[in-house]
Amino acid sequence: MAGELTPRVGILALQGDVREHEAVLAALGARTSRVRRAEELREIDGLVLPGGESSTIDKLARAFDVREPLVARIREGLPVYGTCAGMILLADRIVDGITGQQTFGGLDATVRRNAFGRQSESFETELAVSALGDPPVRAAFIRAPAIEETGPAVTVLARVADGRAVAAEQGAILATAFHPEQTGETRFHERFLAVVRAAG
Ligand code: GLN
Repeated sequence: MAGELTPRVGILALQGDVREHEAVLAALGARTSRVRRAEELREIDGLVLPGGESSTIDKLARAFDVREPLVARIREGLPVYGTCAGMILLADRIVDGITGQQTFGGLDATVRRNAFGRQSESFETELAVSALGDPPVRAAFIRAPAIEETGPAVTVLARVADGRAVAAEQGAILATAFHPEQTGETRFHERFLAVVRAAG
């Protein structure tokens, strides 16, 4: 698999918006597979952590015994793209998690869950993302997190109008607080697939 032109991208399918990611990745020429168990991690060149509910995904990952092997593969450099809850799961540190909530980690950042409060729980906005060029990104935020602090290896890719960081990358890890897969925006997935191909 690794090194082939058609990368195999797993989508962690414990809970959340798995199908939307499958559709975008397939349209971009990747093969996709759903990951629920440790052995399914062996067959993939990259992994998407979808939006959903991060505390639920955390609990299910532990219940399915996939958490530890997943953490190990992220440490080994597996390319991973996390959206929304997926970004929370990639954060080394979180604020406002539920009691006992754990993350997989890998992104040297502090991420606040549900950062946009009640009045703007869901909204769409345009974000200038210089790494992606024009046009700006149409971004859907749904009970979205925000990045509060980043370590030196992290590059912030996008900020909302008030300055809070909402997209970042670090090595083979990409994270967005919003859902490109829900607004027809494919450039983040393309960027991720380029990392997957380069890693293979
Ligand atoms: N608020 C959710 C959480 O804490 C994330 C929302 C989403 O993924 N759309 O996991």
